[in-house]
Amino acid sequence: MNILKDPWAALFFVGFVIYTATRARYARPTRGLERVHRQVDALEKGLLLLVIPSSLLLPLLFLFTPLLNFANYELPKFVPPLGAVVMLLAIWLFWRSHADLGLNWSATLEVRKDHQLVTNGVYRRIRHPMYASIFLFSAAQAMLLQNWLAGFSALVPFTLLYLIRTPREEQMMVSIFGDEYRRYMQRTGRLIPRLW
Ligand code: SAH
Repeated sequence: MNILKDPWAALFFVGFVIYTATRARYARPTRGLERVHRQVDALEKGLLLLVIPSSLLLPLLFLFTPLLNFANYELPKFVPPLGAVVMLLAIWLFWRSHADLGLNWSATLEVRKDHQLVTNGVYRRIRHPMYASIFLFSAAQAMLLQNWLAGFSALVPFTLLYLIRTPREEQMMVSIFGDEYRRYMQRTGRLIPRLW
């Protein structure tokens, strides 16, 4: 079991539990809230089916079984500690974006009754802080789990989801919030603040 042999893998597991618990804590109150717009087509469903099992199952298989060990590799010594720092940052940003988005959060492309456009907190300078935090967490995973399959099991599918979903999400927000969202787009960046 890699979780017992490799302290960086064990540390990843601790971060993974905190990350998952944060999601559960903020997702629970949104359950059962009325939706007024839902854009969950075959493409969106396919993306979720690709990302969720891969990013949850492969790390657990690596941590608790020897099945993936054929794909192990060794990173330079400075990489895993850097991964720990990136993971801390990821968890902080994930928590803040959930806290700021509140009941407006949803796992997929949908808008709720009484949906508020959030433009403050970590949403002030960037439009997708939660996706930024998932990128950071996925990068930390690749730095902490020294295995080609488990290390990259979130980064690769999530990059695909991000590239396909984000323009669709922004279109949906424009269709609901109109000029308010267009103005918000002008003063913010997607993942990195606008510097000009
Ligand atoms: N893309 C955002 C939110 C991810 S959750 C981020 O990365 O932080 C996805 C849902 O959040 C979308 O379906 C949409 O309903 C909602 N959403 C996205 N941006 C929002 C905003 N600025 N204010 C309120 N809701 C938002």
